[in-house]
Amino acid sequence: MTAALNTQVCVVGGGPAGLALALELARYSREVVVVEQSGHFNRSFRGESISPDSVWMLDRLGILDQVRHSTLRTERMVITDGGRDVLSSDFSAFDQPSPYPMELPQPVLLEALAAEAGLHPGFSLLRRTTATALRYEGDRVAGVTCSGPDGPLEIHAKLVVAADGRFSKIREMAGLRYDKIPLERDFVWFKTPMPDGWDPHTLRVRILGDRHGLFIPTVPDLIRVGFNIPKGGLRELRKEGIGALHQRIDELAPELSVGVRESVKGWTDTSMLDIFTAVVPEWSMPGLVLIGDSAHTLTPVLGQGVNHAIVDAITLAPLVSRALLARDPETALNEAGRAFQAAREDSVSAARRLQMRQERAFELSNPAAVLLRRAVYRLVNRSGFLKRAIVGGVYYQLQDSVRRSGRPLELAPGGRRVEPVGDPKR
Ligand SMILES: Cc1cc2nc3c(=O)[nH]c(=O)nc-3n(C[C@H](O)[C@H](O)[C@H](O)COP(=O)(O)OP(=O)(O)OC[C@H]3O[C@@H](n4cnc5c(N)ncnc54)[C@H](O)[C@@H]3O)c2cc1C
Repeated sequence: MTAALNTQVCVVGGGPAGLALALELARYSREVVVVEQSGHFNRSFRGESISPDSVWMLDRLGILDQVRHSTLRTERMVITDGGRDVLSSDFSAFDQPSPYPMELPQPVLLEALAAEAGLHPGFSLLRRTTATALRYEGDRVAGVTCSGPDGPLEIHAKLVVAADGRFSKIREMAGLRYDKIPLERDFVWFKTPMPDGWDPHTLRVRILGDRHGLFIPTVPDLIRVGFNIPKGGLRELRKEGIGALHQRIDELAPELSVGVRESVKGWTDTSMLDIFTAVVPEWSMPGLVLIGDSAHTLTPVLGQGVNHAIVDAITLAPLVSRALLARDPETALNEAGRAFQAAREDSVSAARRLQMRQERAFELSNPAAVLLRRAVYRLVNRSGFLKRAIVGGVYYQLQDSVRRSGRPLELAPGGRRVEPVGDPKR
């Protein structure tokens, strides 16, 4: 016989979006079940750069202190094009409560969110449990069918939240349309020891023609490296052997040549990111809301995926919490889904626009276009106004909007209060 359980909210996916939402709902004393197909949180190479707004949020959620031992602060970003530094941004120059991005391995973040949520009686996390179908009552989504370690399971819920990531099956099953826009590049990631003399607080972007690499210092004493390859080009690169990767790094970061040969001996030491962006016109339908990557997949530029996942969660939680107490919860939940999208869409679009501009700049290879790209970087470098508009427009959206509105962000009891006009720099 199929086991069944009832809950107010069923979240599919225990990534940053799903767990942050579940934590907030549990703190509002709502019942929430998270189903997560994996038995562990041990995913390397994923979502490790945390944008300043989310660092601020994690602090306010009371999570930052718990994970601080595994973090590394990024204090500046330097872009080098053709061997010369063309743009440097020092984040201490931004007058924000939380000006710095941070490196934080995703397993540490997810463990902390799950542990904190687990302190509340309304929260359960079902690991090794995969949502395989949506359940409907009439036209309304009313739960999910899962396959778990003890067999099939039916979860009945007033609201299902699809936090199941960039390849969301729930979005597919619900028939919610999306436009997947592939970009010209894919990305190969790996980690290598930080060589002596490498500044652990500087994120470096190095560009040579249409090749580029990201060099992000991370814990413990490592550099997370990502470099571009042509779309779908991994098979070709792999045929050339791991020496092709070593040579690519020799070109972009000769300081790492020795370390990379010792630490990356085969392709299994690397991870590939298929870069695309997904635009979803409707983020909700009766009984279902999409959040995080399933609602809006972004590219790696300025590490925005985890940020928007967390901000989605804290935006949706109070709307859902109130709707569940309404006289007509179904209508109120439908309105909450629409209000959530209205609150978040502009912010996601602004990040996507900047990312797409940078993606196009990365693709340039003809000499005149490359010269123009360098000139634009230098122009931005000289202008505090442009830096604030470009970097600030992505990194500090939330902090700026809270400051402008003069109203604290709404967080569940148990998190810290978010000050309306910003607290002292830390
Ligand atoms: C290689 C790589 C590097 C990245 N680096 C960065 C970075 O530095 N900074 C950054 O901000 N972002 C980065 N990202 C993007 C970032 O990881 C995502 O944007 C972020 O994790 C999105 O969070 P999410 O909770 O929406 O989805 P996810 O983190 O993808 O979580 C979805 C969860 O749903 C589970 N799931 C899926 N289907 C089901 C199902 N049917 N039933 C049950 N569970 C299911 C999955 O197992 C997963 O745990 C990177 C991504 C990759 C792949």
